[in-house]
Amino acid sequence: MTATETENWRTKYFDSLGRLESEQEQFRAMEAALKRLIGRLCTAALGQSPQLDEQIRKLQAVVRRDTNIDELAQLTSPLTDAIGALDHPMVAPPSAVLPAAVATGGGTRTSLDEQRLRAILSALLTELRRDTELLEQSDALDAKLATPLTTERLPEVLETLTDLVIKRIGRVEQAKQEVEVLLGAMVGKLDEIGQFVAEQNQNQTQSQASSETLNKQLAGEMKAMGESVDAAGDLQQIRQQVRSRLDSIDRHLQEFRQRETTFAAAIRNRNDQMRSRIVELEAEAKRLHSQLQDEQRLSTIDALTKIPNRLAYEKRIDEELNRWRRFGQPICLAVWDVDHFKTINDSYGHRAGDRVLRAVAECFAGKVRSTDFVARYGGEEFVMILPGTQLDDAARFSERLRASIAEIGFHFRGAPVSITVSSGVTALRADDTAEAVFDRADKAMYRAKESGRNRCVTA
Ligand code: GH3
Ligand code: MG
Ligand code: MG
Repeated sequence: MTATETENWRTKYFDSLGRLESEQEQFRAMEAALKRLIGRLCTAALGQSPQLDEQIRKLQAVVRRDTNIDELAQLTSPLTDAIGALDHPMVAPPSAVLPAAVATGGGTRTSLDEQRLRAILSALLTELRRDTELLEQSDALDAKLATPLTTERLPEVLETLTDLVIKRIGRVEQAKQEVEVLLGAMVGKLDEIGQFVAEQNQNQTQSQASSETLNKQLAGEMKAMGESVDAAGDLQQIRQQVRSRLDSIDRHLQEFRQRETTFAAAIRNRNDQMRSRIVELEAEAKRLHSQLQDEQRLSTIDALTKIPNRLAYEKRIDEELNRWRRFGQPICLAVWDVDHFKTINDSYGHRAGDRVLRAVAECFAGKVRSTDFVARYGGEEFVMILPGTQLDDAARFSERLRASIAEIGFHFRGAPVSITVSSGVTALRADDTAEAVFDRADKAMYRAKESGRNRCVTA
């Protein structure tokens, strides 16, 4: 193996290590988000009963520090019992919405707490949906969230959610371990290659020493031959001396050849071994790479709408800004927001809201050019990058999109419902940063809201 090959392997190894680090970073961020959500969920659920509070405090304490699946699993059953026990002291009618009935001590009950709880649970579900293996179960749970969270149903919902969280943590752990095992194997193989390089150096030194020995032996024989010729009395003697010297020269040469053959065979052997190690290493690196790519892809696609998410947008706008600085072709940015979206959620439920988001994303994604880019920026906001487009063209295009959305015939609970969107459109200007251009489009979008919604405003 050449020095360049070794160097290539070092680079590949360090690349993989770098990617692993960034993946772990993502895992850590996700874990932190899950923990934050559990924390918020706990706070929202406090104050129902001393028994439940005790279990919630335990859960809070556990998620605040490093925990593992076993510890979390152990908490599930007492937590479920405590929630189950709530059914009896409840004063509210069976269909009462939790937790407002208890938290307000039977006072005026609003659906605010339920909304908060629902929002927290939905956010948690969005995290869980990132995992394709949990998609079906997350969707099933999401469907349960669409109907009122009554006292009877809450324990079941929470239990399913806890189950999903435990599964997700388990899968994150498993993925981490798989990558660690793979990297461990790669490190082992790299060590072997390093050792091989050292051995090869040693072989070379030995081979050099062997040649030097031969040189010395030959020089010694030649010198001895000269001396014996000088000292010899007759031709017979000289012939004898020369013959015996030639014999020992022949012996030295044979020994040398044998040594060289042994070295060469050893090197060939090791070379073959190393070649197969490299093939294995290459396959492992490929597996690692595709595993990391899957994770990377998951983390840039929005689970609900299946279009790029904010992270993907942030990467893309940086790339487009760089291209724009080099080539200077016009680029426009459009920020979109669904009008009165909260009312849709409040009147027809969260699932209806989700359906609207999916339909809007589908309409946008189906109508933009292949060089354009559309992402769900967050909540009910979308962002579009339109390269190679002048502001007036971008404004006309946005107007068409706005009209298309308004024409989608949504039906909720059998009645037609009109959904509209507002947008702010702007073109990239000299010295614009990603933040500055977004901010300008966002402000224009707010002006569209102020002036009546269902319109596009340029800036
Ligand atoms: P405006 O016309 O001024 O934009 O009013 P709005 O009601 O759309 O604005 P607001 O920002 O007050 O409400 C946005 C709502 O979007 C609040 C939040 O609960 C909801 N939301 C955010 N993300 C999701 C989601 O993934 N699914 C659903 N169904 N609703 C979401
Ligand atoms: Mg908004
Ligand atoms: Mg809105």
